[in-house]
Amino acid sequence: MASFTLQGIPVSRGITIGRAHLLRPAAMDVKHYLVAQEQVEAEVVRLQKAIAQVQLELQTIWSDLPTDAPTELGAFLDVHALILSDPMVSEAPLDIIRSRHYNAEWALVTQIDALSAQFDEIEDEYLRERKADIQQVAERVLKVLTGTAHQLPRATGVDERNANMIVVAKDISPADMMQFRDVAFTGFVTDEGGPNSHTAIVSRSLGIPAVVGLGNASHLIVQDDWLIIDSDAGVVIVAPSPLVIAQYRDRQAALLKARKKLHKLKKTPAISLDGIEVTLLANIELPEDAHAAMDAGASGVGLFRSEFLFMGRTSVETQLPDEEEQFIAYKQAVQTMKGKPVTIRTLDVGADKPLDHNEHNILNPALGLRAIRFCLKEPQIFLTQLRAILRASAFGSVHILIPMIAHAFEIDQSLAMIQQAKDGLRAEGIAFDDGILVGAMIEIPAAALSLPMFVKKLDFLSIGTNDLIQYTLAIDRADHEVAHLYNDTHPAILQLLDITVSAAIKANIPVAICGGMAGDVKLTRLLIAMGFRELSMPAALLPEIKQEILNSNIAALEPSAKKMLRTFDPRIAQELLYGMQQQQFV
Ligand code: PEP
Ligand code: MG
Repeated sequence: MASFTLQGIPVSRGITIGRAHLLRPAAMDVKHYLVAQEQVEAEVVRLQKAIAQVQLELQTIWSDLPTDAPTELGAFLDVHALILSDPMVSEAPLDIIRSRHYNAEWALVTQIDALSAQFDEIEDEYLRERKADIQQVAERVLKVLTGTAHQLPRATGVDERNANMIVVAKDISPADMMQFRDVAFTGFVTDEGGPNSHTAIVSRSLGIPAVVGLGNASHLIVQDDWLIIDSDAGVVIVAPSPLVIAQYRDRQAALLKARKKLHKLKKTPAISLDGIEVTLLANIELPEDAHAAMDAGASGVGLFRSEFLFMGRTSVETQLPDEEEQFIAYKQAVQTMKGKPVTIRTLDVGADKPLDHNEHNILNPALGLRAIRFCLKEPQIFLTQLRAILRASAFGSVHILIPMIAHAFEIDQSLAMIQQAKDGLRAEGIAFDDGILVGAMIEIPAAALSLPMFVKKLDFLSIGTNDLIQYTLAIDRADHEVAHLYNDTHPAILQLLDITVSAAIKANIPVAICGGMAGDVKLTRLLIAMGFRELSMPAALLPEIKQEILNSNIAALEPSAKKMLRTFDPRIAQELLYGMQQQQFV
């Protein structure tokens, strides 16, 4: 097969070489053709056999469930088995083959589409949501029919083949990304997605190379194709020649060596050449990520995206983690960090992190009921989380971070809820840190432009540049079609960052950046010269950022940063930024 190269959007660092593992939704690819009269019964049997095979698969998964598996998992499998044995799914498509002579895949999809349309009409939300289950069951059958029924390899007993697996998909939801955490794979490429979609964020936190926004890679790449991901360049080489593979293996080895060298800085504080210390923190999605944070030498967790504990509970989505489950998760992170601060952000669901896969009907999810808006509308969910966070605060240093703040009342109500949670715990005699610090994410331009409204009530600020850019420049951060407009040094963004850091310094409260800009080494000098002293990023990026700080003289960089803030000419701004990156200090 001839080699070819695809260009996409780089989302993480490094090079990986491996074989493609396609996660193409089978339903998208069904062939449509009519079968001859004499073939009809054979086609019926083909579908029956596929259905029987899936029944067997479900039973096997059921009996292989570990004894400590969540009970919902078993229930979820039961529901799928039940759906599959329902005549509307297992028999109606056979009638379609017989009456209309459709091929098996087409007949199945026709019936599932008809059923799905009926489900859309149902008023009861729970029942309506079962549509997704029906579609997942159909997907399984289609995969058997089309011979694409690949299971993800299991985490245990990783062999060479699995260790070199690169996932290729149209898109991967953040929730689906979570399942890959337990599976050995060395990279992923997707047709869709922007540089700061949550899927990209998870890949960065796993520290694995990835390229997104590749257009139709999942159609051009074939299962088991050799692939090279050069994620710094945003390039995927399909079916490379042995010579190209050898060249990339050399580059990969050099990068690994450089990374190992950087790891030696683990215990070195991030102090600039002119003696200014910058606190480097890690972003985590799940409590176990705290180990990577410690290993990278982070001074704490600057952002624990707690919503990842809530996501990906498809079919049992109604079962949110209860107080105890959350408490255990938060405590685990806090204890792993051994007294270093852990900033737990309260539930930031919505937009590209739906609690429920079926939230398709929201008009404009990024502008909808996200984050604190959702929490204040669902006070019981919020209170449960606040109690769990407070309980974890008895085991170390915990800060609470409220996302998506734009209005004064959102802070007031959040603080009132925190007080309510404290009062409840106190009445029950449960320990917590009464002096727990509470901060807010600055990620809506309105918040940055009205900081005096908040700062007096808050202990710290943390800037979410991913959303700040999305909302300031009006570009969906997950949409690759507008990814070229995602410009973190747009003058409007720099002004908002400057306003925020100045307001925090004036109010004498700490301000961090926890969005993607904090982990972009090309911006480190600019940010520290603008006055930022706390940066929180995926642990894998921390050593490189530290090295940049160690090699920087902040005072000497300040004049260029000031000029950058004054210019509205993109060319001059780029020259200044480049000049800062290249600046040598004597
Ligand atoms: C951000 O918006 O920059 C941020 C850190 O939060 P998230 O990426 O989870 O929205
Ligand atoms: Mg955000």
